[in-house]
Amino acid sequence: MRKPFIAGNWKMNKTASEAVELVVELKDKVAGISDVEIAVCTPAVDLVSVQGVIKDSNIALGAQNMYWEESGAFTGEISGPMLTELGVSYVIIGHSERREYFGETDEDVNRKAKAAFKYGLKPIICVGETLEEREAGKTEDKVSGQIKADLAGLSNEQVAELVIAYEPIWAIGTGKTATSEEANSVIKYIRDLVREGFGDTADKVRIQYGGSVKPHNVEELMAQKEIDGALVGGASLDAESFTSIVKGAL
Ligand code: PEP
Repeated sequence: MRKPFIAGNWKMNKTASEAVELVVELKDKVAGISDVEIAVCTPAVDLVSVQGVIKDSNIALGAQNMYWEESGAFTGEISGPMLTELGVSYVIIGHSERREYFGETDEDVNRKAKAAFKYGLKPIICVGETLEEREAGKTEDKVSGQIKADLAGLSNEQVAELVIAYEPIWAIGTGKTATSEEANSVIKYIRDLVREGFGDTADKVRIQYGGSVKPHNVEELMAQKEIDGALVGGASLDAESFTSIVKGAL
């Protein structure tokens, strides 16, 4: 059985002191929950202060991006070993905002995913279609192209550790959610694609839904057979809301 996984994506929010305030509250609220895996993916500059609060707790630490090289002349970038040394377990790769605003390609995502594994990090790879693509009936084409390119050359052992977040771009931060059936059906399609490339390892991959997940819709989403958790943006910035989402996944 796949353990449900709720991860918060704070995006570019919370200074180091605000971050500490949030995780102090969150740590208290989710204490004792062991049937759902919980992670917070913070801005890079908050990782140290957040880790100071959540180490030895049931909240894992995640980053929102990394570069694939180990070190060198890549101004502004952060490497895998830098994250690993801070106790980071997960790294979001290929979020639609990075693809759209920072020009990340599937090739970049693939290189980053391989680098993440090389340095002991588990990637959360994001895929999903735009509204235009959905309306043109191209959701499966888009997602299939992303999955095939993003996972190319990974081993079965790596894929077993992988997390995929299906995030329809039109549902991110808009208050619009895919219906739970729509989300389940695309996630099933993604799992079948993984099965084509990696056989029964597909049953081990956790596939989250992301896009305006809130306390009021999480239970319905989690009731779907293929949905293993959620990547939560806006609602992860408030300890009360994020805790309700975690509890909705129990
Ligand atoms: C996200 O940032 O990945 C996300 C899904 O955001 P929101 O929950 O705010 O739609």
